Amino acid sequence: MPNRVLTKEQILSRISEIEGLQKSLPIVKAGDLLQVTKWSLSCEKRRLRLRLSKLNGHHHTLRQAIELIQSVNSICEICGDDSNPSIDHNIPISKGGHNGLENLRVLCVSCNSKKGGRIYG
Ligand SMILES: [Zn+2]
Repeated sequence: MPNRVLTKEQILSRISEIEGLQKSLPIVKAGDLLQVTKWSLSCEKRRLRLRLSKLNGHHHTLRQAIELIQSVNSICEICGDDSNPSIDHNIPISKGGHNGLENLRVLCVSCNSKKGGRIYG
């Protein structure tokens, strides 16, 4: 979908369209070409949710993300490692979380990837 301006209603409508498509697709095994379709639908849904979050006033800048990491000395909230910080969404975008600062915390890349799409992990 081109990066044109969409209203909240159009975004919500496209998200539910994608969810309908996702439900209609069969479960596939690793390596199946259909995985690419599933992956791109998930990516599009995430992008739409981020845009919706921004339209709803929940947004952070790269500078704010860097300042958040600096404010905790890059220390991972879960394991305390400070060598590989990343920004985690407490409530993942995929679970309806928003992209505002209040929903962000610092986790190391390892803890962030283990947490995946879980809430607060
Ligand atoms: Zn960690």
